[in-house]
Amino acid sequence: MSALLEVSNLHAGYGESAVLQGLDFELGQGEVVCLLGANGVGKTTTMGVLSGLVPASEGRVRYDGIDLLALPTHERVSSGLALSPEGRKVFPNLTVEENLYLGSFNRNARAHRMRKLDEVYALFPRLAERRTQSSGLMSGGEQQMLALGRALMSNPRVLLLDEPSLGLAPLVVQSVFAAIRAIAATNISILLVEQNTHAALSVASRGYVMAAGRIVLAGDAATLREAPELRDAFIGKA
Ligand code: ATP
Repeated sequence: MSALLEVSNLHAGYGESAVLQGLDFELGQGEVVCLLGANGVGKTTTMGVLSGLVPASEGRVRYDGIDLLALPTHERVSSGLALSPEGRKVFPNLTVEENLYLGSFNRNARAHRMRKLDEVYALFPRLAERRTQSSGLMSGGEQQMLALGRALMSNPRVLLLDEPSLGLAPLVVQSVFAAIRAIAATNISILLVEQNTHAALSVASRGYVMAAGRIVLAGDAATLREAPELRDAFIGKA
């Protein structure tokens, strides 16, 4: 069976600077797969290309049998791809519920808005308690939950999670990852970009290590945990 998301020979960059240089990986239906690697190897750029914010200069992305790179961003969202961006990017002056609504404007989500809202509040009771509060007043962990909830509001098949642990205390990271596990149990496929290797490999069944815009190692979580290449990738030797 072919993968739900299949990335082949992807190249992308900014002006003269080449960042992705022949990236290949796959995400299967219902899988949680992590992309690991040091600062600056191109993980966020990968998420940008998948969500349509950064153009690819070469390569292919097949999503559910279609050519994803040919679709504009809003159609990617409508077809079930949702990004929870690095740094969360919640709208600080809007309330929790207003931020959640913004996740549900695409064609595929509008009709399910109330059901999705109930699901998000069941997953994150804290967001329900704070539904009328300005998002900018919430803690980093609560804002991360809001970013996850907003992505879920678009009724996704694939969630692209960029650094959900960034800047959070260890206990908060644990609760964010418990939520990611609960989301994965609903059969949503998850591509997880993380600097926190330990947390990522606690939830992903397998993963890839990136260095200099390519995959340098692929394996299941147990293999990656022990892999010297993973350590090397973080100190720039890979
Ligand atoms: P991080 O964990 O720091 O986000 P990353 O692996 O996600 O790292 P990217 O954010 O994809 O890496 O960045 C890859 C390279 O592209 C870096 O050298 C970065 O400085 C550069 N870069 C990222 N965004 C831009 C941009 N908008 N314009 C120019 N260069 C950029």
